[in-house]
Formats: sequence, C-alpha cells, structure tokens
Amino acid sequence: MQMNGMRPLLLDSPSEEWKMDGVPAYRVEQVRNWVFEKGVLDWEEMTNLPSSLRAELSEFWDAVPMDKMRAQGSKDTTQKFLWRLRDGQLIESVLIPATKGTRGMRSSRLTLCVSTQVGCALGCKFCASGLDGLKRNLTTGEIIGQVLLARNEAGRRIDNLVFMGMGEPLANLPALLPALDQILSPKGLGIGARHLTLSTSGLVPKILELAKYPAQIRLAISLHGGDNQTREKIMPINRTYPVEQLLEACERFIEERKKMITLEYILIEGINDDLEQAELLAKHAKRLNAKVNLIPYNQVDGLEWKRPELSQIRAFHKKVEQGDAPRVTLRMEKGHDIDAACGQLRLRETAESLS
Ligand code: SAH
Ligand code: SF4
Repeated sequence: MQMNGMRPLLLDSPSEEWKMDGVPAYRVEQVRNWVFEKGVLDWEEMTNLPSSLRAELSEFWDAVPMDKMRAQGSKDTTQKFLWRLRDGQLIESVLIPATKGTRGMRSSRLTLCVSTQVGCALGCKFCASGLDGLKRNLTTGEIIGQVLLARNEAGRRIDNLVFMGMGEPLANLPALLPALDQILSPKGLGIGARHLTLSTSGLVPKILELAKYPAQIRLAISLHGGDNQTREKIMPINRTYPVEQLLEACERFIEERKKMITLEYILIEGINDDLEQAELLAKHAKRLNAKVNLIPYNQVDGLEWKRPELSQIRAFHKKVEQGDAPRVTLRMEKGHDIDAACGQLRLRETAESLS
C-alpha cells in the first residue's frame, strides 16, 4: 500500500528477505539490523549508511507506517497505545506485564496485544471493536510496526504476542502471515511460535488454512456459547459457521498440528452463564482436549450486557471443572478504565495464563 507517496518500508515486503529497489543487498541488511536488532526507526540515526542514501530513504520510504498518538496506563500495569496510521485511522496495542513464579524466583514477561484490522466486520454483540464495522485490513507493515514501536516504548524485549486487539486476525491472513514470518524469523523479531497466539471468532475455512502454516503458533477460539442458539445471540458469525462445524475444524487443526488449543468463553449475565452451558463447554473441551479460559464480561459503554454475579461465575467455573475439561482458568481481576475497550482485561488475563 502506498500512502502520501511514501512506501511503508520493507516491513510490507511479502517475505522476510527485504528488497529495496536499487539499494545493494548489504545496505538492506544494515537497515534490517538497525530496525529489528537495534529498534532504530529513524533513517537519520542509521549512521553507517551514507548520507546520500539516508536522504533518499527518508524521501521515499516510511520507516514505520504509523505514529504514536497516545499512551495510557503505566509501565508496571497495562499500557495501551493508540497509533495513528498514515491515512488517519486509529488502532491500538496493549502492553501487558505478567509476573510468573514464586517469591525469589519471579520473572516478568511482557505480552503485546496486537490489532489486525481497523474495526471488525463480525459484530459480536459484546465487543467494542465491531461497533462501527470494518474500516480496512491492516498491512503487514502496520502489524509489525505495532511490535517495533511498542518494544521501543517498553525499552525491552517483548516475550509474547497475542493477536486479540482490534479485528479478526483470520480475516486478514494475506497480511498477517507475512507479518508472522518476519516476527518469527531470527532475522526479524525472533519471537518463538509458541509465544504467539491467534484468537479467532471461528472462521472455519481460515482455521483449516492456518493449520497448513508451518510454524506452531497457538490458536484460541472465541466460543462464548455451547450451542447454536446461545452462540447466535452473541456472535452473528455462528450463522455462517455453526458450533458443530467449528468444533470439527478445531479437530482438524489439532490433528494437523498436534497442539492443544484454547476455548475462550466470556461470561455474560443471563445470556450464556447458565450451568447447562457450562456442561456443554466442558463436553466440547473434553472432546478437543482443549484448555478453557473463562472471562467475566468486561462492560462496554453503549452495550447493555453485564458481568454475572461472582457466585454465578464461581458456580459456572466449578461445573466446567466437574465436567472433566482438561484445564480451566478463571481470572477475577477488576477491570480498569483503560481495559474497557476490547476485552483488554481478558487480554491481561490471557497474557498471564500464557506466560
Ligand atoms: N476477533 C478475534 C480476536 C480479537 S477480539 C476474536 O474474536 O477472537 C478480542 C478479544 O477480546 C476476543 O477474544 C473477545 O472474546 C474479547 N473481548 C471483546 N470484548 C470483550 C468484552 N467486552 N469483555 C471481555 N472480553 C472481550
Ligand atoms: Fe470482531 Fe473479535 Fe470483536 Fe467479534 S470479538 S467483533 S470477531 S474483534
């Protein structure tokens, strides 16, 4: 994509082998080193490049195709960044520190929640991202750019990526897969596949397509309802890909990848929190040998739904465990203001359960 006459760098190149027209390969390698190893995103700071080349690069190439518009929160807790893309659209990423281990042996892991689209076409009834529909897909450079910029903001390595920000990652595979290539590559960001999680609302054909992607990235399925009737109330996509089809696609994915998946389930009062649903959820989890992640609904302005009472959340949790689901997690932290937009509370919870 070309905007304002600028090319969004090599980040948008479809392979991890960057190419810049007319620039010798060893110079491209130097640029790669500045960007990925050193996190330098300003051409003028790339001091081993001749100044004529630097001038040319700044005229024609955009180092990162976005700028920071706002940061909210603090480094010790969750930090949310709002990025302004070159066409003025806004997206967000959330940086989530998670502490693991017992006293004396604690290690802090940093997870970034990444957006893949501006808005979302799928209109799940609990989600702020889909309120205005889909504006556009992000480019490969805009996906990687979030990680590069957030890494600089954090001043340290990012350990995990979860694709749970704005948008449906599997609806944007043509831009996402090349981004994953560069994120995974030791010549790129070098983040290991098992530290990458894609979350999907259940696009069946795309799950099957992803099963062929060579790296062992993790998959999380936003289930949110155990049967069609319940799931349809929450997620319109269920009319296209009903529960049974989705579960079969999950089975195929697991068979292909030999990897556990996670079923995510937001608990919404009076909508999907009855114990019959808990039994169904446990049954599906058992069938897929999948982990279950229970997420008490995070209230969104303008939407009516509510988080269930604590006693109901506990009862639901217990019922899923009793149903022999292989592993069930429930996190009960309270949402902060900045978490409220698109399930970020849940993101922090997921980050903690992943690290
Ligand atoms: N489109 C993908 C991934 C991005 S959605 C998907 O649906 O899986 C971001 C994640 O935030 C989703 O997993 C969704 O389940 C969660 N989420 C969105 N709104 C939420 C809310 N109000 N409370 C809790 N979780 C929410
Ligand atoms: Fe889109 Fe995911 Fe939000 Fe549903 S939950 S509207 S799929 S971003």
